[in-house]
Amino acid sequence: MWMDTHAHLYFPEFSEDREGVIDRAQKEGIDRIVVVATDLASSRAALALAQKHASLACTVGIHPKSAHAAPPGFLADLEEITAHKKVAAVGEIGLDYHRLPPDPEAADAEKDCQRRAFRAQLAFAREKNLPVVIHQRSAWEDTLATLDEVDNAVSCVFHCFGEGPDRLQELIRRGHFVSFTGIVTFPNAPLARASAQAVPMDKFFLETDCPFLAPVPYRGKRCEPWHVRLVAEAVARLRALPPSVVAEASSQNARLFFRFDD
Ligand SMILES: [Zn+2]
Repeated sequence: MWMDTHAHLYFPEFSEDREGVIDRAQKEGIDRIVVVATDLASSRAALALAQKHASLACTVGIHPKSAHAAPPGFLADLEEITAHKKVAAVGEIGLDYHRLPPDPEAADAEKDCQRRAFRAQLAFAREKNLPVVIHQRSAWEDTLATLDEVDNAVSCVFHCFGEGPDRLQELIRRGHFVSFTGIVTFPNAPLARASAQAVPMDKFFLETDCPFLAPVPYRGKRCEPWHVRLVAEAVARLRALPPSVVAEASSQNARLFFRFDD
């Protein structure tokens, strides 16, 4: 079984041929795709797609870069969407301190806003007993500190993992998972590749993060879910394993994490 555990199929990059992209994934043997939300509108759009296709599941959540635009009562909206059984996780949520406003006060305000949204959604996930898809960029310490505040009592996957083996161990110690994108096919990504080589077989998933991060040889082009095969091949090469073994481990880990019952 092959799975793309992180896809943004509702993005405009797919508006011309979305059904064709989903069909192509199925023909390539990708049996399940998790459509990951980044704000309220995409939480609704991800659910609508998941309701239409048996092979799709979805998440609900506000991305840190969308936190400032979330309406004050957004948790009630998330709650309403989460009532549907196709919702498998809360995400992507977290902290992203890359490209903060240059003014220090504005930067602090943005960080505060992100932290409030992250904390609120972690509490929400805990209450709903849902796993969490984490987006972390340039905010490693604060992200871990926020998870430590809730005793790491929610199961998390750090998506698009690009950190090295030391940070990987910090997550594993806390009981979390990582997932790898096409970045592991890039020659200039030594940390991600070292982590893909070092990660225990029961602690990782594979994803595309499409339409972004197309793996080599499609780098720079639109990424789509079937490219997860190329991510698996890259991880397999790093570990000297057959790609099918890597894909099966990823699918099995993701099945348990998202609690898919097939
Ligand atoms: Zn994403």
